[in-house]
Amino acid sequence: MMENKQNILQDTFGRQHTYLRISLTELCNLRCTYCMPAEGIQLSPRSHIMTYEEIFSIAKTFVKHGVTKIRLTGGEPLVRKDADIILKKLAALPVELAISTNAVTVDRFIETFKSCGIQNINVSLDSLNAKKFNRITRRNNFKKVFDNIHLLIDKGFNVKLNVVLMKGFNDNEIIDFIKLTKALPISVRFIEFMPFEGNKWNKEKMVSYAEIMDIVNATFEKNKVLRIEDAPNDTSKNYKIEGYKGSFAIISSVTNPFCDTCNRIRLTANGHIKNCLFSATEADLLTPLREGKDIEPIIQKTVQAKFKIRGGMDTLEKLQNPDLHSQNRSMIIIGG
Ligand code: SAM
Repeated sequence: MMENKQNILQDTFGRQHTYLRISLTELCNLRCTYCMPAEGIQLSPRSHIMTYEEIFSIAKTFVKHGVTKIRLTGGEPLVRKDADIILKKLAALPVELAISTNAVTVDRFIETFKSCGIQNINVSLDSLNAKKFNRITRRNNFKKVFDNIHLLIDKGFNVKLNVVLMKGFNDNEIIDFIKLTKALPISVRFIEFMPFEGNKWNKEKMVSYAEIMDIVNATFEKNKVLRIEDAPNDTSKNYKIEGYKGSFAIISSVTNPFCDTCNRIRLTANGHIKNCLFSATEADLLTPLREGKDIEPIIQKTVQAKFKIRGGMDTLEKLQNPDLHSQNRSMIIIGG
């Protein structure tokens, strides 16, 4: 597919960007406290959101330059009325198509996922306790989400559960989540809580990779906790309890970033590209696309501007400085 001689998706550190994450919408049917600020967010005007034709057109440009995997995210990608059209259009591209969802409505999309060849579905679930789930999401959808997770497993999808850990909220559920993997062939991924605009982050709320492993090692016999191979460009460190059907993993973006092997680039719902989840800047592709201009030079310039580590916040001190991390829009807007 690399028909264009210029390698516009390689950055100055030699990292080749083959994985595009597209946020389909800024809207969500949940209100997770750590993702969406309590006061809400400034939504882009509707006319500034990419249409499905524009999403397809931009995605095609990336695929032409070597993208082999596209993940749809949001907001909640499945709240978009034309989500199934978008999925079907993108499924026509020679890429691995995947989706991140809160699973509230996935039961309506099983056939679409199957017909689009979607295998890998990441589902957010921060608590196994209905009351706590409802508190963190500010909505009462626990049963629906839990039933839908089982539906996805029964239908043969590869399911990963994303759990954002927060001290004093769900760190006492780490072992319960790992025990879920005894009978279920899923991967539970514990994500270190990350700072974004308006989410009141501080280091004390975060549960680190080291702390998670201390809890795991205090519960399971050491020789039963197996470190398993990470996939290339994997953001997670993968483990398994011997004899369990599933596995668990830790995504340590804060304490142990995995920037060296980063192959990701992000497209926000309003058509801006971000070269890093933590980057404070974005480049608008949608306006030039609508004006009939060539978007490839903008993509190239943005990729070239990518910092070596975490949008330039290369130390924990810098990450903790609100003047730096608060310039970054909320996760709900960027698309996690
Ligand atoms: N609605 C979809 C979902 O629930 O997966 C896709 C969008 S959501 C923003 C993507 C992922 O980002 C979720 O797993 C969510 O938990 C994670 N996320 C949001 N804010 C975060 C934060 N501050 N730190 C770590 N992960 C976060």
